[in-house]
Amino acid sequence: MDYSARLVRSSSAATGTLFVEFEVVTPGFSFQPGQASLFSFPPEFPLGDKSRIFSLCSAPSEIPRLSIATRLTPGSAFKEALSKIQPGQPFLIEEATGEFLLPGGETPGTLVFLAGGIGITPFRSMIRELRHRKDSRFRILLMTVNRTGDETPFLSECQEWMRAGRLTWIPVLTREDLPPGVSRQERIEEGLSRVLKEAGENSLLYLAGPPGMVDTFHQTLLGQFLVEEPRIKSDMFFGYLSR
Ligand SMILES: Cc1cc2nc3c(=O)[nH]c(=O)nc-3n(C[C@H](O)[C@H](O)[C@H](O)COP(=O)(O)OP(=O)(O)OC[C@H]3O[C@@H](n4cnc5c(N)ncnc54)[C@H](O)[C@@H]3O)c2cc1C
Repeated sequence: MDYSARLVRSSSAATGTLFVEFEVVTPGFSFQPGQASLFSFPPEFPLGDKSRIFSLCSAPSEIPRLSIATRLTPGSAFKEALSKIQPGQPFLIEEATGEFLLPGGETPGTLVFLAGGIGITPFRSMIRELRHRKDSRFRILLMTVNRTGDETPFLSECQEWMRAGRLTWIPVLTREDLPPGVSRQERIEEGLSRVLKEAGENSLLYLAGPPGMVDTFHQTLLGQFLVEEPRIKSDMFFGYLSR
């Protein structure tokens, strides 16, 4: 089923990252943190390719407000249109789907969230919802990987979560402050090593972002750090594959 929505406002979540807020007009829309929906311009909108899948980066408790964030990839007619439209623009949103969800049950534990760039979106939804519910079951270690601080989506929100406690944020920058001779991969390994040491052996590892980044995290965790596969859950943002 399609739900009608309208754009409320858009702003910047970082250099090159667009943050868009919608209001769902059709009653009954619901989702779980970590899920994604297909967002479409209406049939009459003058654009060939009208739809894209986005993870919802707001929390379910914020409904009827919904938000998404996206990397502005040059050459994407969809994103160019998205960045130019005005408040009030109608949109269609499909039922949210996906199994990239927080653990069920009451058991407390440590969760490691590894966000490759724009991959922070499902984690933002999870963190905002846990904070809203004052649910402190999980200790969270959030590692974000971006080229520079300016390109880190939701940087000030990450800082705020860190100050509020129960969350440790490890920002890894792969282009800024990189000493000569240190590679991007080494930076990522350094970050992973720190996170894994702090998280302990029973933690669950959640990986999200463009497939190339998720793949790098996955291979490094299995190959370098000998993490067992069942501890890992991945959310690949397919569609970024072509880049
Ligand atoms: C579960 C999930 C969650 C996602 N969450 C986010 C998010 O939070 N933020 C974000 O920026 N991106 C997210 N994506 C990726 C998003 O759907 C786009 O693919 C991506 O942003 C690139 O869009 P583009 O307009 O630059 O693609 P372009 O490079 O312009 O598209 C090139 C071609 O690929 C096709 N295409 C685009 N996306 C997809 C797709 N997902 N599957 C199959 N074909 C596709 C297009 O129709 C087009 O023909 C997610 C994808 C998935 C599957």
